[in-house]
Amino acid sequence: MPDFLKKCPQCGRRSGVRKLETKLVSAQLERESIPTDRVVLDVQGGPGIINDGVQSVPLILEETQYERRYECERCHHLWIEKISRTD
Ligand SMILES: [Zn+2]
Repeated sequence: MPDFLKKCPQCGRRSGVRKLETKLVSAQLERESIPTDRVVLDVQGGPGIINDGVQSVPLILEETQYERRYECERCHHLWIEKISRTD
């Protein structure tokens, strides 16, 4: 939504909302893996061991969170909106 259409949560006006600043609050790396319980690591068991080739694939998610501050020029209400973005 374009910032000039932002609605003030206090007075409900859609005009006069000013964007003050955008601040980075957190950036984290998460690591997720496909469960490895189907991967047979011990291949010395002889026939009967099924290795269907499923591998653990690390998936790196980078989540960046921002705080964006707004001020309403009509009632001077200040508020913060949190934005998270995954690149
Ligand atoms: Zn307002």
